[in-house]
Amino acid sequence: MKILMVSSEVAPFSKTGGLADVAGALPRALGNIPGCDVRVVSPFYRMIKKGPFKTEKSKVIKNIPGRGAGDFFELREREEAGVRFYFIGKDEYYDRDGIYGTSHGDYSDNAARFSFLSASALATAVETGFYPDIIHINDWQTALLPIYKKGLPGRSHPLKKSKVLFTVHNLGYQGVFSKKAIADTGLSREALREVTSGESINFIKSGILYSDAINAVSKKYAEEILTPEYGCGMEGILKKRAKDLYGILNGADYSDWNPETDSLIDENYNAEALHKKKACKLKLLEYMNIDIPPEAPLVGSVGRLVYQKGIDIMLASIDDILELGAGFVLLGTGEELYEAALTSLASEYKGKIGVSIRFDNKLAHMIEAGADMFVMPSRYEPCGLNQMYSLKYGTVPIVRATGGLDDTITDYFEARDRGNGFKFAKPDIDDFMGALGRAVEVFKGDKKEWGRIQKRGMASDFSWRHAAVEYNQLYKKMLGEATTRGER
Ligand code: ADP
Repeated sequence: MKILMVSSEVAPFSKTGGLADVAGALPRALGNIPGCDVRVVSPFYRMIKKGPFKTEKSKVIKNIPGRGAGDFFELREREEAGVRFYFIGKDEYYDRDGIYGTSHGDYSDNAARFSFLSASALATAVETGFYPDIIHINDWQTALLPIYKKGLPGRSHPLKKSKVLFTVHNLGYQGVFSKKAIADTGLSREALREVTSGESINFIKSGILYSDAINAVSKKYAEEILTPEYGCGMEGILKKRAKDLYGILNGADYSDWNPETDSLIDENYNAEALHKKKACKLKLLEYMNIDIPPEAPLVGSVGRLVYQKGIDIMLASIDDILELGAGFVLLGTGEELYEAALTSLASEYKGKIGVSIRFDNKLAHMIEAGADMFVMPSRYEPCGLNQMYSLKYGTVPIVRATGGLDDTITDYFEARDRGNGFKFAKPDIDDFMGALGRAVEVFKGDKKEWGRIQKRGMASDFSWRHAAVEYNQLYKKMLGEATTRGER
């Protein structure tokens, strides 16, 4: 089976968030399944041009759907971990410092930049002779691809038979542009009619309407996006596609996130030597200038400081958290409002709260290893990675029951013999503090039981291997082939 993955970012070459991790790790995991030939198309950004990974110029490609005869791009290639990566070299679009924009906002020509990516992915397949069975597109940036594909000339065009899978990583970002941007796509008004409403066009609608199948990055999120609360206005058209909608949980990359082998933490440990986690806690307390007794609970948080993540709920709960006798450490960047509020709390409660406003991979690992509990009071969470890392590090997750958080965490009080964390229903202070309070009670009152909760989490396996098997099954189903477990 030939699979062409198209993504606007791909680790380790370019990254702003989780999408890059998926586009980097999933092809590698699929490549380990016999019979899968996966290739990836992504832009040749400045950060790749100037980065440590060398690419080779392959050819200049001219026949680009929706573009005039004079338009072209330079295809560059690199093989990495057994996967072939195709980079679309087009300096006027991609030779910039950012991927989507600057700190002042998105680039004004993103409609042109990313419609070009979709069209160029098809041109790359044709010109390299790699005719995929499956074209796997991701989020709004690649969502116009099915429209370009429909417009390919001739019934016997080699890509006509390819099936398209559209993965929704976050429905909160849709690629909405003014109607003026229609000209930038090179597509006709008629071709874009169903994704145009009023004065705007919406890229993500195209992925939802015209792909052969759609999946969200967890089963729960696949259900949630059918409701007005989570659908961001797309619930209506998603419902019409419900029989083609699937949920596949992302994986965690345990070659990076494993306390046994992690080179970024103070002491390596595993479930058999959990006492060594203490050294990581002591180091973290020292590093963040937290002055609480070493046996007091330490609550950690890492992530983007945005409304989606319930940062306001954490902020409003700080006094209650400290009243439990706990310390609190947070690492994140994001909205200025939250950055300022957190910084001022940290100076108000010196020695109890440690806040770091920056992107710092090492500190993220130190928090996963050194904290006792990890909090994620998200309003919505398509998949979430940090709760999976926390499980592996024996750092008990306390999460809101939404999306991937709900799929991966079993509440201890709901199922004592299976619980790997603590869950709450409503994104508000009372529910959040209820769950945290219950966790602290077990942590302080029953060390043995706490250890069992930790060990259950450490034993869980959310590796990409499982996700790749599920994607492989979905691809086969799309192609009408028999699958061993043709489940949703
Ligand atoms: P999202 O994709 O919504 O941002 P995820 O939980 O899926 O959330 O993934 C976020 C990833 O980015 C995690 O690996 C997390 O550790 C990392 N991360 C987020 N903010 C920071 C930061 N300030 N420093 C280091 N790593 C961060």
